[in-house]
Order: sequence, then C-alpha cells, then structure tokens
Amino acid sequence: MTILRQLGDAILEEAASAQQDTRAYVPLTVDTVPAYLTALPAVMEILGGSTHLDCVEIGDGNLNLVFIVRAQDDPAKSVIIKQALPYLRCAGDGWPLSRERMEYEHMALALEAEIVPELVPAVYHYDRAMSLIVMENLDRHVIMRKGLVEGITYPRFPGHMGHFLAHTLFHTSDLYLASARKKRLVGLFSRNVELCKITEDFVFTNPYMESAENRWNPEIDDVVQRIRAHTRLKCEIAALKDGFLTRTQSLVHGDLHTGSVMLNQEDTRIIDPEFAFFGPMGFDIGAVLGNLALAYCAHEVHSTTDDARAAYQGWLLETIRETWDTFAGEFLRLWREKNEGEATRPAFFAQCGGEDGLDIYRRQYLTGVLRDTLGYAGCKMMRRQLGIAHVYDIDCIADPKRRAVAERLALAIGARFVLERQYVQSIDEMLAIIKTTKEL
Ligand code: ADP
Ligand code: MG
Repeated sequence: MTILRQLGDAILEEAASAQQDTRAYVPLTVDTVPAYLTALPAVMEILGGSTHLDCVEIGDGNLNLVFIVRAQDDPAKSVIIKQALPYLRCAGDGWPLSRERMEYEHMALALEAEIVPELVPAVYHYDRAMSLIVMENLDRHVIMRKGLVEGITYPRFPGHMGHFLAHTLFHTSDLYLASARKKRLVGLFSRNVELCKITEDFVFTNPYMESAENRWNPEIDDVVQRIRAHTRLKCEIAALKDGFLTRTQSLVHGDLHTGSVMLNQEDTRIIDPEFAFFGPMGFDIGAVLGNLALAYCAHEVHSTTDDARAAYQGWLLETIRETWDTFAGEFLRLWREKNEGEATRPAFFAQCGGEDGLDIYRRQYLTGVLRDTLGYAGCKMMRRQLGIAHVYDIDCIADPKRRAVAERLALAIGARFVLERQYVQSIDEMLAIIKTTKEL
C-alpha cells in the first residue's frame, strides 16, 4: 500500500532529522564559487558538466549575496546562488541578522514548489551550513518593479499572481489542512522571529513616529507630522499590527512587493520568501495590490502625456481588479472542491442548507480578507514614504517637488485604505478609493 504524501511532509521530516551542522560557514566570493559548485553533481549537470565557469555578483538585493554563474562554453547554462550573510547587507556588519533566514526561504520555496511549482524558481541545492540556495536562473525575466517604472504591461500577471495567492494561501490554511498538521507547520515558521521583527518595526511602528532611521522628503513634512498625530489612523495601524502579530491564518510570503516578482510577457515567478511565516492572508494580497497602487502614484509623475498616464494607470487599476478577482474565484473554487480542513467541517452546515449555508460563510470570509488586504496595502504604501525603505518607483523621481506629488498621493490613498477598509464590500470600492483620492 502506498502512503499518500501530504503537504509539508518534506520540510517536517527534514526539520525532525536536521542535525546540528558542524561544518564551517564561509561567505563565498566570485573566486570561490566555481570550486564550491564543482563538488555538487546535481548543479554540475545543469551547468553541462563544464568546470570553466564565469561568476558575477549582482548587488541589487538588500539582505543577501547573489551570484550568477554561467558555463563559459554555453552561457545559456546558468544558475543563481543566494547566500545569507550574518548581517544586513545594505546596512553593513553593524547590523547583525542571523543567517537562519535562508532556512525559512528554503522551507517556503519547498512548500511553494509542492503547491505552485510553475510560479517559483526551481531549487537545485540547499546547504544549511553555508546558508545558501542554488536555484534556477530566471534569465529571461525582469524584476517587475523595473518594468512598471518603464510603463510595460504584463497581461499574464493578474492570472498568475491571483493563482499563486489563491493556491498558497488556501492550501496552508485551516480550510484545507488538518489542525495538527497546520499547527506543526506554524511551529516551524514561527521561529522566523528576526525577519518578523523587521516588519513589526519598519512596516507597523517606526514610520509613524519619531525614529532615527526614518527618512522623508522635506517637501512633505506637513503631512508626515499630520499622520504621526492622527489618533484614529494610529489606532487602525495598531489593530493591523495586532493581526500581524497574533493571527496564523496561512503561510504568507511576507515580502510580496513588486521587487519579489520576476516576469516577462509569458511567465511569472515569485522569488525571495525569506520573510515567510504564518500570518493574515491579506498581508500578502495587500503587498501586491499596494505596490501596484504605488506604481499608479508614481505614474502621476512618470507618464509624459495625459493620454499615456490615463492608459497606464487604467492598466494598473484593471490589474488590481483582475488579480483580486482571480484570487477570489480560485480560492472559492478550491474551498468548494477541497473543504478538507478543520475550519468548516461539512456536517456543521448540514441543517443550514449544506453548501448553500457554507457559501454564505465563504462570502463573509472573503470580505474579511478583502478588508485586511486594504489595511495592509495601506500600511505598506505609507511606510514607503515615511520610513527607512522607500520604493524605486517613486524614489527615482529626482526633483523633490515632483516626487512629492507621488508621495502625497500614496500617503492619501494608503491612509484611506486603512481608515475606510471596514466599510468596503467589493474590489470596485478599492479601485474607487484610488481613483477619487486627491493628494494630501
Ligand atoms: P534579497 O533578499 O537580498 O533582497 P533577492 O532574492 O531579492 O535578494 O535577490 C536579489 C536580486 O537578485 C533580485 O532583485 C534579482 O535581480 C536577482 N535574483 C534573485 N533570484 C534570482 C533568480 N532566481 N534568477 C535571476 N535573478 C535572481
Ligand atoms: Mg529579501
């Protein structure tokens, strides 16, 4: 008899058998990468067996070392190496951050590969002692944020992202998982405390108060001070932070902005899940939709004609709508087809019309997810104007006066998302907020 493998078996077994790794950790350099890879048969096969390898470090990440390695005789054969350093790369060795973050990236990529293998990079090798992953080089893809600044449209994105969100969030929730398995997975990821603390500080707390690392455009100082003093807004942000701290609804990617998406006209991949933990579904969906809304704000300035602006902002709004609609449609379908978890046992609604009764609850549940989505999107939009980490979409506008136009709009939309979310019933209302908001 074959025993059916269940979601998460691989990482649970691996965690149970993991030995204390006594091998040494050494940060790789472009000179040491080739010898390291030569000892890995699975990776050498991808590289065509050639020991003549070209290695470059690509330094655009905030946290880690990333190398591209190519076979000299066939540059189409290539891999990516991502290695954690024992500190925050963009802040230098004065900001210690444990290398364990690669463990969570590895576990999240492994779970995502079980659920949506076509939407994540393939992993060829994981080395716990070295805190590194060797993975597929997405050679024909670009970071979405860069494409958005250039005004490129990606017609397949809403379908792919809606699918990614529906499948990862549903299959790691109590709607699908038995409660014992869900709790074991929550246990594994709840140790990702350091990266959660980064979010707690830099998304939900410091940007809205005085804190040394905050930076903002002096042109918008009036609105920065108003936000810091807005009691009702602060109460709502505190409530959203409480949700982030206390709810374990699903495994979330945890950093799902447009810099964590690599894509082209046909294909989409989600990278960089080192912030993964069990939290509210709306945290991931809000990251995606909030970053699309930030691109909308940036195009208030980037677009050179009114027609071009209307066309691109229109595409961004449709992309927000279609991403949500794909997510919600697929999520409902999965819930109807695979209602296997602890949360809504079929017999519970038997005397209330069965599936019809349960469908009322399903709609209510999705409205809750939509409201969370607005709230988290709003926090993410505001903190990018007020805090330590800004977004390239807006930061690349050199003239501070012109940049302030996009920043004020982002703050105004973000604040309305947070303040009005409890009244919202449909994605159309989210779009209406974006369309009708004037800058603060
Ligand atoms: P960090 O967590 O340090 O920010 P990322 O995972 O975001 O690192 O990677 C940093 C950069 O490296 C990305 O912006 C992208 O340009 C490149 N990159 C990362 N993974 C891949 C991949 N699998 N294929 C191609 N490029 C990649
Ligand atoms: Mg990262």
